[in-house]
Amino acid sequence: MAKNTATPTRYCALCAQAIPPESRRRRYCSSRCAQIARRLVSRGFHVEVCRWRGCDRPVMAEPGQRHSYACCDSHYDKLRAEAERAAVNRDARDARAGVPVRWTRAERRAVARLTNGHCAYCNSKLRIRRDGFSGKGTPAELRFEIDHIVPLARGGRHEASNWVPACRSCNGGRRDALLHEWVAKGDSVRQPTLILQDLASGTGAWARDGQTGEIQLADRAALVRT
Ligand SMILES: [Zn+2]
Ligand SMILES: [Zn+2]
Ligand SMILES: [Zn+2]
Repeated sequence: MAKNTATPTRYCALCAQAIPPESRRRRYCSSRCAQIARRLVSRGFHVEVCRWRGCDRPVMAEPGQRHSYACCDSHYDKLRAEAERAAVNRDARDARAGVPVRWTRAERRAVARLTNGHCAYCNSKLRIRRDGFSGKGTPAELRFEIDHIVPLARGGRHEASNWVPACRSCNGGRRDALLHEWVAKGDSVRQPTLILQDLASGTGAWARDGQTGEIQLADRAALVRT
């Protein structure tokens, strides 16, 4: 099979048109675009990457514009629709929890420190930036999320004692199952290997309650694995 030597298409950060492959220009398609862009940058505009999943086209963002960068109307509309759906879900979650389900940057970082930046269920080393988020395009098993040990949908409270770091794979695979239900399911997308390990050894962070059969966080300090 012939080796693929084609360089990825580059797009002008100003007009979003493809830059011809033979061009030596990296950021802009023409000297005209480069010139206009220089003027905009001097007035506070900045080059960002389109936020739509899988799109890596550059965008000239307006001064003070944050987050909703899109390379074209179609991607902008998709971002807006997704943001609106997320807001509806968030409102429903807030209503269920009785408090806004949010974390400050300090809280996100404090939760990450509980496990020294690993998923509390599968031990995956999470990618966590200084702002406490993983960033666009992070693979699910590296993506840092905060999980409620007892899910809000099952009566759990939105408070620090109920938070652990989890990767997107575990959080998404678990959904609203209680921990013992998740473990019993056995066929979920991802198994909480650390919980299984602790239950088998009888020591560690996670333990089964002899009476109810439910799984609890028995030893917070043991969340940091050695
Ligand atoms: Zn251009
Ligand atoms: Zn785009
Ligand atoms: Zn995990």
